[in-house]
Amino acid sequence: MEVEFVHGVNLKEDKAREAGEAAKKNDVLLSCHAPYYLNCCAKEKPKIYATINYILATAQAAQWLGASPIVIHTGFYMERPASECKKLVYETYEKCLDEMEARKIRGVVLGAELTGKKSAYGSLDEIIDLAEHFGIKRLAPVIDYAHYHAREKRLKTKDEYLAILSVVEKRLGSDGSKNFHCHFSGIEFTDKGERNHLPIASDSPPFAPLAEAWKENGWAGKAICESPEIEKDAVRMQETYRKRVG
Ligand SMILES: [Zn+2]
Repeated sequence: MEVEFVHGVNLKEDKAREAGEAAKKNDVLLSCHAPYYLNCCAKEKPKIYATINYILATAQAAQWLGASPIVIHTGFYMERPASECKKLVYETYEKCLDEMEARKIRGVVLGAELTGKKSAYGSLDEIIDLAEHFGIKRLAPVIDYAHYHAREKRLKTKDEYLAILSVVEKRLGSDGSKNFHCHFSGIEFTDKGERNHLPIASDSPPFAPLAEAWKENGWAGKAICESPEIEKDAVRMQETYRKRVG
């Protein structure tokens, strides 16, 4: 399950530790989602500082919860070339990782999410590049299949899912394929990309061929359900997957 800090991080240490214990007892793995309001390649310095603070606050809460990774929407191009943004993104994530080390926040990986809008930093290539740059144990790519479906290419068949997975494996090795973290939901979109998330039953994109692709290649990791019916659809996804694994 994903602990959503998307509208801000306001979880006290004692409550976080309590929730972390409850998750452990019930054999539920946790990850976190950082606030939406950040931008690692913001044009203004104060916005970069605010971004770093949001990421650090999420990382601290994640450590109390025993959760990892913390999933981040990296930022927006704001009409600039991707290469110009990349430099700023590198700098900002570097500062976050340095400060996490200084504050002894360990065991928490930064997760760069594949974003759903064409105006947002975070294509498949960009998030894999970040993991290559920092090392996957510090910063891992988070494939959001619904976002990919909305932003890049419609997903329908097992082979289309396999094409994404094999790029990840080719560039990041088995660290990328045996312990991945991903998001799944249905999605409604326009030419600019994502509009809003839909239940799994929308089949836009379909989940079953992805489960099939994972099984066939021995891929393993955590899949977070981000449908509007989070809990029910998480169970439906698990059932679909288990039917294939047997
Ligand atoms: Zn997200």
